[in-house]
Amino acid sequence: MIVIYSKEDLIEEIQDLKNLNQSIGFVPTMGALHNGHISLVRESVHKCDLTIVSIFVNPTQFNDKKDLEKYPRTLDADLKLLENTGCKYVFYPNEKDMYPSSDLRTFDFGPLENVMEGKHRPGHFNGVAQIVSKLFDVVKPDWVFFGQKDFQQVAIIRRLIDMMNYKIQLVSCPIIREENGLAMSSRNERLNLKERENAALIFKTLTKYSNLSDSYCVEDMKALIRKEINKSPFLDVEYIELVNENTLEAVNQWTNEFNIYACIAVHCGNVRLIDNVKFNL
Ligand code: AMP
Repeated sequence: MIVIYSKEDLIEEIQDLKNLNQSIGFVPTMGALHNGHISLVRESVHKCDLTIVSIFVNPTQFNDKKDLEKYPRTLDADLKLLENTGCKYVFYPNEKDMYPSSDLRTFDFGPLENVMEGKHRPGHFNGVAQIVSKLFDVVKPDWVFFGQKDFQQVAIIRRLIDMMNYKIQLVSCPIIREENGLAMSSRNERLNLKERENAALIFKTLTKYSNLSDSYCVEDMKALIRKEINKSPFLDVEYIELVNENTLEAVNQWTNEFNIYACIAVHCGNVRLIDNVKFNL
């Protein structure tokens, strides 16, 4: 495994790989890696001739500067975790390299960005699109791997690939969870034991109600989920939405015409957690 620290070095390396007709799989991350990230890497290693993982805590996608400051940075542990996965290159650029000058581009994702994370974290997806497009331009991947944990992000990146005419296949990988059901996240490291235990209620509640669409209308369902999670003194639901998997539009009645997902953001202590579960209709 080779660690590359500069854009120029990576561009040179990629050119050689392209000349050899190697298919390139790419997994962008912000580090503090866990088994959720590793599942994406393994999928890429399985599908592609070689895999590149980037580690970069992207400042432009943080709407909350405190969150950016507190974001865990654990390069040594990350490299250890990647060592036996088959990942060939780790790209670890610094901020100046990715943003030699401030990125003034704005992306318009229309209705996809006006709900859920986009609505509650203004500018977040514009920052995501800025860094992801920069990384795609450098890495020139054939395949990219994103986690369904960031449900809305997958839809946004799909749209970005379409908008920018990238010849890239996107693979959306299932959510990897802790034993208690909590979706793995780099931010979980900031939860204390009690918070971590309580956070399990998020997935437990979503799963329970995902089988009860016969019993409640959409509005009641959202209210019940919110109420049940908020019963824990450690948890505070920011939003709960039931959405069309493709358009991310909120549904107001049950239908079999498309998949419906419950998407949620919950504050647990100082940590903001997101999760989603497919509803069975
Ligand atoms: P991040 O480092 O948080 O930007 O995440 C990098 C990638 O890993 C994104 O595509 C995430 O959706 C994905 N990811 C994060 N947590 C998980 C998880 N628990 N299961 C699957 N994928 C995940």
